[in-house]
Amino acid sequence: MDRMYRQSSGRPQVAVVGAGIAGLTLAAALVQAGLSCSLFEQAALLGEVGAGIQLAPNATRILHRLGLERRLRAVATRPEALEMRRWDDGTLLRRTPLGARCEELFGAPYYTVHRADLHRQLLEALPSGIVHLDRRVERVEQRQNGVVIDFTDGFGVMSDVVVGTDGIHSVVRELVATDQPRFSRQSIYRALIPAERVPATLLDEPRVVLWLGPGQHCVCYPVSQASRMSFGATVPITEWTSESWSTLGSVLDLAARYRGWHDDVVTLTSAPDSVSRWALHDRDILGRWSQDRVTVAGDAAHPMLPFLAQGANQAIEDAVVLARCLATATPQTVPTALRRYERIRLPRTDKVHQISRNNTIALHLPDGPEQRDRDRSLAVNADLQSQNWLYGYDAEYDLEPGPAPGETPGNRRPPQGGQTRAHSTDHALPHAYDGAASPRCHELEREP
Ligand SMILES: Cc1cc2nc3c(=O)[nH]c(=O)nc-3n(C[C@H](O)[C@H](O)[C@H](O)COP(=O)(O)OP(=O)(O)OC[C@H]3O[C@@H](n4cnc5c(N)ncnc54)[C@H](O)[C@@H]3O)c2cc1C
Repeated sequence: MDRMYRQSSGRPQVAVVGAGIAGLTLAAALVQAGLSCSLFEQAALLGEVGAGIQLAPNATRILHRLGLERRLRAVATRPEALEMRRWDDGTLLRRTPLGARCEELFGAPYYTVHRADLHRQLLEALPSGIVHLDRRVERVEQRQNGVVIDFTDGFGVMSDVVVGTDGIHSVVRELVATDQPRFSRQSIYRALIPAERVPATLLDEPRVVLWLGPGQHCVCYPVSQASRMSFGATVPITEWTSESWSTLGSVLDLAARYRGWHDDVVTLTSAPDSVSRWALHDRDILGRWSQDRVTVAGDAAHPMLPFLAQGANQAIEDAVVLARCLATATPQTVPTALRRYERIRLPRTDKVHQISRNNTIALHLPDGPEQRDRDRSLAVNADLQSQNWLYGYDAEYDLEPGPAPGETPGNRRPPQGGQTRAHSTDHALPHAYDGAASPRCHELEREP
């Protein structure tokens, strides 16, 4: 078996498993921090599913600092607002301004982007020779002098530290946790629709629109310079019969599940030529992510339901914190650096993970008194400033030593002379879709 990628320089050599958003961002952050890394990906070709993704300022400021600002501004759309509407008549429940207001408040934009575009930009920003394709990790084993990765093809490497960014089915997570993915009884249809098939009312201004209804919701936003609309439509299901966690769905079934909804939703859900369909899963919220020289990041660490649109954004926060913790480590002090990383990250991702779960209920309330309470609280908390705890958070300031009195990871002081602002979360409701949960809904979530 080959053994390579081990260096005896004074700085730790990092092996990263999985070239999704977490792995690619981590590689970019490690390179920027002057560390040497190798990224191993099972796929023979890198690509991403045909769907969009929302990138919030808590992540875009990090991507910009990694040198991606020009590239991202070229391929991403900057939505002007996030709207939440009623499922049947489209009544506007909340409109949160994004666009310039977001940059003014948080010093970074809100983007919607085609996943393939994001992947390409991250990949192109990396020096060549870092990403190794067609390398499926079978096993990771701690040894006294490093960590050994065995690949399914018999190839093997040794490294000072191994980071699993290998997604919700992570092989690396098996070293730090024994839990299994849990089916959430939710499935989501996703597709990209050419702009010419999208209702004109949704094209007059780039924005994220959500329709909330009993048991399910639909979201759409423009990508690819507004030439296409990305949409996701959830449906409750009792079981997932396919062996795969994603499969092709039926446009007819989707349209049937959204019959009777607002005209715009009916048009959107009937418009695609094909749709992909995903079974949504959750996993335990862990108290530890690391064991000695092995750790996890992104979905491998905190695979959250997509009901706060934060899974990838949190993965990007993980990446920069982990890279900075490792940057000051030696091969001998790697375990301490990994403990510091998880100490910084766990409180933040726990909260976001939990709200994502709670939103399964909050987004899907049947019409009635609780739904009316939720809708009232949505209207009250429409201002973007109420999202400071989420969007104003700057992961890199958590790396600074010595919090000021009264500071917590969620309300760090703003940087000296910096652009971002962080504020108390005390009276903030989570961002609607991005957190429609009212306190009442949190209570509901805890009921058996
Ligand atoms: C419907 C939906 C909508 C979402 N919308 C948003 C959104 O708007 N905003 C947001 O922030 N998040 C969103 N998310 C969440 C987001 O997609 C994920 O959190 C994010 O993609 C996770 O990235 P990752 O790199 O951690 O994992 P993954 O994307 O799963 O990447 C893991 C990589 O590891 C590779 N790999 C796996 N096993 C091995 C192995 N054994 N050996 C080598 N390689 C391996 C895989 O091939 C893959 O390339 C959404 C999720 C869903 C399902």
